[in-house]
Amino acid sequence: MVKQTIQIFARVKPPVRKQQQGIYSIDEDEKLTSSLEIILPRDLADGFVNNKRESYNFKFQRIFDQDANQETVFENIAKPVAESVLAGYNGTIFAYGQTGSGKTFTITGGAERYSDRGIIPRTLSYIFEQLQKDSSKIYTTQISYLEIYNECGYDLLDPRHEASSLEDLPKVTILEDPEQNIHLKNLSLHQATTEEEALNLLFLGDTNRMIAETPMNQASTRSHCIFTIHLSSKEPGSATVRHAKLHLVDLAGSERVAKTGVGGQLLTEAKYINLSLHYLEQVIIALSEKHRSHIPYRNSMMTSVLRDSLGGNCMTTMIATLSLEKRNIDESISTCRFAQRVALIKNEAVLNEEIDPRLMIIRLQKEIQELKDELAIVTGERRTEALTEAELLQLEKLITSFLEDQDPESRLEVGADMRKIHHCFHHLKKLLNDKKILGNSTVSSESKDQDCQEPLKEEEYKKLRDILKQRDNEINILVNMLKKEKKKAQDALHSSRMDRSEFRRSQNSPFPPRNPEEGQRMLLSSAPTQAQDFSTSGYRSSLLHKKTGMREEMSLGRQEAFEIFKRDHADSVTIDDNKQILKQRFSEAKALGESINEARRKIGHLKEEITQRHIQQVALGISENTAVPSMPDLQEERLRSQLEEEKRRYKTMFTRLKALKVEIEHLQLLMDKAKVKLQKEFEAWWAEEASNLQVKSPALNSLDHMKPFPQTLESQHDRPQLLFNKSYPPTFCFCWFVFYSDVYARKILPSPCPSPRSQEQSRTSTPLGNSIPERPTSSVPLTGDSQTDSDILAFIKARQNILQKKYLHLLLFSAPKASSLLCPASPNKKGLSDDMVTC
Ligand code: ADP
Ligand code: MG
Repeated sequence: MVKQTIQIFARVKPPVRKQQQGIYSIDEDEKLTSSLEIILPRDLADGFVNNKRESYNFKFQRIFDQDANQETVFENIAKPVAESVLAGYNGTIFAYGQTGSGKTFTITGGAERYSDRGIIPRTLSYIFEQLQKDSSKIYTTQISYLEIYNECGYDLLDPRHEASSLEDLPKVTILEDPEQNIHLKNLSLHQATTEEEALNLLFLGDTNRMIAETPMNQASTRSHCIFTIHLSSKEPGSATVRHAKLHLVDLAGSERVAKTGVGGQLLTEAKYINLSLHYLEQVIIALSEKHRSHIPYRNSMMTSVLRDSLGGNCMTTMIATLSLEKRNIDESISTCRFAQRVALIKNEAVLNEEIDPRLMIIRLQKEIQELKDELAIVTGERRTEALTEAELLQLEKLITSFLEDQDPESRLEVGADMRKIHHCFHHLKKLLNDKKILGNSTVSSESKDQDCQEPLKEEEYKKLRDILKQRDNEINILVNMLKKEKKKAQDALHSSRMDRSEFRRSQNSPFPPRNPEEGQRMLLSSAPTQAQDFSTSGYRSSLLHKKTGMREEMSLGRQEAFEIFKRDHADSVTIDDNKQILKQRFSEAKALGESINEARRKIGHLKEEITQRHIQQVALGISENTAVPSMPDLQEERLRSQLEEEKRRYKTMFTRLKALKVEIEHLQLLMDKAKVKLQKEFEAWWAEEASNLQVKSPALNSLDHMKPFPQTLESQHDRPQLLFNKSYPPTFCFCWFVFYSDVYARKILPSPCPSPRSQEQSRTSTPLGNSIPERPTSSVPLTGDSQTDSDILAFIKARQNILQKKYLHLLLFSAPKASSLLCPASPNKKGLSDDMVTC
């Protein structure tokens, strides 16, 4: 049992703007603990109640200042916890702090760079690395990912997530068994045999979380997320299994409701968050007080799930994330106060060992059988059936090998069958008697001289026997080779074709088998391996496809708008950067893959040479009728050292390639996530603009409401609100125009089943030929600057001409296709031809 208080660490986030000096200081002088001093600026007039104190001091195990990187945080906080989980103890790491203070960044990581990987991916990597190193135990790893939002639990790895919103999913509920152990119903456990599989699960959960989020429910800041690694281990042959759980928890933002001043739905959520954080606080207060018999775990779902982590069987660590800017001082102080209370809680972690019932049954069955055998010996129970011919033969063989075995420890194992034991004794007696008779006759007939020569003869006999054995072996080798050659000749045509294609395939793969021996196996089974690779990338692409929605269903205008939206989006730089890095890594992996294949070929070649050399020597021995020379073969030694060198090179390159593979996978997942985010933001922007247009549709002539693309500039406050103001880039105006024409085209094109009247109306009131060129020009609020205005008008005119031509082209040359593009639900030719006439 390990008794330990909850370890508390603090991490200070780098400020968004330039940091005001003197707000805090860190004192690292003391042993084992560091202290953080938060200094209250004197000019705090913005709502902060100055309670006369000028500074606050808080103690932490360690404080990570702004410049601490993710690797340092992992090494100091998560690695020791991961190690105790590997040893069989439960572990929890939770991040607590206000929204934007870096909880998600610390626990999961940044979405941009590989080096920003947070605690979860690094811990997974570390755990799988350790599991691979330790062959003395059999490990099983499972993953679950739970989100708690508004006091309800949701399974982020539920396959139905892709189709539904968060609220439609079956809720994860808590069940308690008579021993008061908590079980979570509807929370799926997914086995992960490799780091890659575990990472895929993490990204799947994160993407599901992002998708379920709508502007109305910013679940990521208002929900708690618990990523759990379940690790079981057992020694081969043992029935004792160790279970350990590692919870990595990203809590909801800890800010107070009063400050945020929210209402309606947000208030409900804020209440829930604060309620569950409030209950967490209550549990912590109760635990930190001595002699408190009742701990209110059951008040909220989160405290129920984390019951073991708080004052129970777990090694728990808290990371207080702080955003030490002027306006966040009060929240930071309250985070630190919370941490100080947490530090008082004592946990008692024990090894979670249990007996696996299946293994226990096998063990007991064996024991019963042994006892039965013993009992049969003791009671002398006899079996009536005589031993069969095969059994007798088997026994005689056993006896012969027992007698020939030089090992004094060797035993004659025949089981607990009395018939067999008796037969063995009889047989041994017979052998002994036979030898006695033979011995007597030899003694009587041989002289003393002959006795002296006996050892000599024995030696010669042994030598001859060895040579005979050697020859036998050689003959066997040659016969096998002959057989092989014959078979090769028979299969030559067929197998050569097969080998060529397999070889080519294996050369193309940048990820070769683990070792040269495996290479042969992998060649044979390359088809299933590739299928698996496909399934991984297929999983990703299908996920992306599902998440991003059907791009193909977008209208042309929308697609164009999306392209520009994408280009101007802040994340596109990250995506491009990551693309570049990925490209580099891919080419490195490819080059490495080629070198590995080359090394593998060399290894194969060297092995072949060594075998050839053996065969030659054997053949030489046969032809000259001499034994194989005992002199060391220099040529062979040279080949062997070359072989070892090549194997070493192969191993080094393979390790590097494996690391590259993990990095590539991670970058791909990051990019996929960024793409989903981009698409989602575009959809939201598009939907909002569409609904705005619809509200104002009768006039369709005011563009003031158009919102600029989100995140296209650092600060939206700095942007003027007029769309066609000079400061907007032409691409943005163009993009708006595409959006406008698209919505507008949808409006004027016939509906699925247009009534004759509506067709009439559309013909008379909004003829395509007039509407498209005229509407925007007449409705655009111009800037007043004649030069800029005329530029805009010229630009719009040119764009309209292109669009008109495009529509005409589509209508004339691919009417059915165009109809589905322009008005997806209506392949109504009549309607289109009306427009065509108008055009
Ligand atoms: P929270 O989860 O607490 O709401 P986030 O982790 O989402 O906060 O952090 C908010 C922003 O700050 C993110 O853009 C994140 O990348 C950035 N950030 C947080 N901590 C750090 C850090 N230590 N270094 C660099 N950027 C950080
Ligand atoms: Mg967060």
